[in-house]
Amino acid sequence: MATEQTYVIVGASLAGAKAAQSLRDAGADGRVVLVGDETERPYERPPLSKGYLIGKDERDKIYVHPEDWYAGHDVELRLGTTVTGLDRSRGEVELAGGERLGYDRLLLATGASPRRLDLPGGDLEGIHYLRRAEDSDVLREAFAAGGRLVVVGAGWIGLEVTAAAREHGVEVTLVEPQPTPLHAVLGPEVGRLFGRLHRAHGVDLRTGTGVEGFEGSAGRVTGVVTSGGTVVPADRVVVGVGIRPNTQLAEAAGLELALGGVAVDEMLVSSDPSIWAAGDVASALNPLFGERVRVEHWANASNQGKAAGLSMAGQGEPYAKLPYFFTDQYDLGMEYHGWVGPDGYDDVVLRGDPESGEWLAFWLAGGHVLAGMTVNVWDQGDPVKAMARARTAVDRTRLADPDVPLTDLV
Ligand SMILES: Cc1cc2nc3c(=O)[nH]c(=O)nc-3n(C[C@H](O)[C@H](O)[C@H](O)COP(=O)(O)OP(=O)(O)OC[C@H]3O[C@@H](n4cnc5c(N)ncnc54)[C@H](O)[C@@H]3O)c2cc1C
Repeated sequence: MATEQTYVIVGASLAGAKAAQSLRDAGADGRVVLVGDETERPYERPPLSKGYLIGKDERDKIYVHPEDWYAGHDVELRLGTTVTGLDRSRGEVELAGGERLGYDRLLLATGASPRRLDLPGGDLEGIHYLRRAEDSDVLREAFAAGGRLVVVGAGWIGLEVTAAAREHGVEVTLVEPQPTPLHAVLGPEVGRLFGRLHRAHGVDLRTGTGVEGFEGSAGRVTGVVTSGGTVVPADRVVVGVGIRPNTQLAEAAGLELALGGVAVDEMLVSSDPSIWAAGDVASALNPLFGERVRVEHWANASNQGKAAGLSMAGQGEPYAKLPYFFTDQYDLGMEYHGWVGPDGYDDVVLRGDPESGEWLAFWLAGGHVLAGMTVNVWDQGDPVKAMARARTAVDRTRLADPDVPLTDLV
């Protein structure tokens, strides 16, 4: 392994912190600098829309490493510091304020930012986006005070915020232009089950309904104007309409992009051999699928960050993890393993009765399992993962039959 190297990591969040850790675990003895524009040390975002937002979990549980871990591992943590430029020919990044920091190996772990709605009234006070800990602090306090909330977008963030708000007793209207929640990620068959769950918890779910703007008074939002022309009264609005990878540095520096992110190979190396990318911002060639995949989930940021650190230290292996995602909403805990891909699926198989609250769903193409989800079932993850990884051919009748052990189908 090379010594005296300077490793610079841009983005001090999950992927960045895991990369710093694995560089040190791999014995890299050079300088490791972790630069992030947030003022908090690296933390995990899932609790921000779940346990922490609900008020169940304490804030000190969100951090990736204890405060003294960074100094203890000789990782220079530079918080509140934005990287404003990337000069590949000199091997330097530029920090806000003009300081330049040289690197031998650079990791872009810049993640993503919420997609903003550019609509009339969109900058009124009381319209929120949720990405950072401070966003969750504000919402947690607001939800505790009750009131009427409109959530725009029934994707993962919108649904989790909705559930958290309901747990606080907030009245919620959830507005979604597609025919079901999670339409783009799970499809209508399973999306409608999430719709049913939220309606059962008193949510006014309005599908097939877009948003045209916001009404306000004295600079504060008072309502959401929907595509039908109806105004839904609101004391607050949370918008969850997807994210955009933070590719500005990569783009300006002329790195190759793909799928909206920084294109990297299976070793997480970009089109510049001195630059790696990992986490939400990376479109990585996954040998499992033979194509690039960009995954916006916690496990990917954690595992890929770790893999990037090893790769930067010269000890990498091809990153071939199966995408994995989890959510918690009310009393529903779900895990999803697999990847459906751009060609989509042609069949959905439910196993168990969704009414019972414990069930599984599988997405298939040509009789092969692409992905599977377990809902409140905690001992079937391994066979589900094995089927999705191997793209196993299955008999759909047996797959749907809870009396046939999944292990018999793998
Ligand atoms: C509220 C919420 C709940 C979630 N829940 C789940 C869940 O239940 N399950 C799941 O699988 N996933 C969940 N996710 C997704 C998961 O948190 C992300 O996939 C993960 O945070 C991605 O990590 P990352 O390190 O790649 O990027 P990020 O977490 O986005 O971090 C990137 C960091 O880089 C910083 N940065 C960007 N540009 C610069 C720059 N130029 N200079 C300096 N710093 C910069 C950013 O400010 C940020 O701190 C959730 C996300 C959110 C927001």
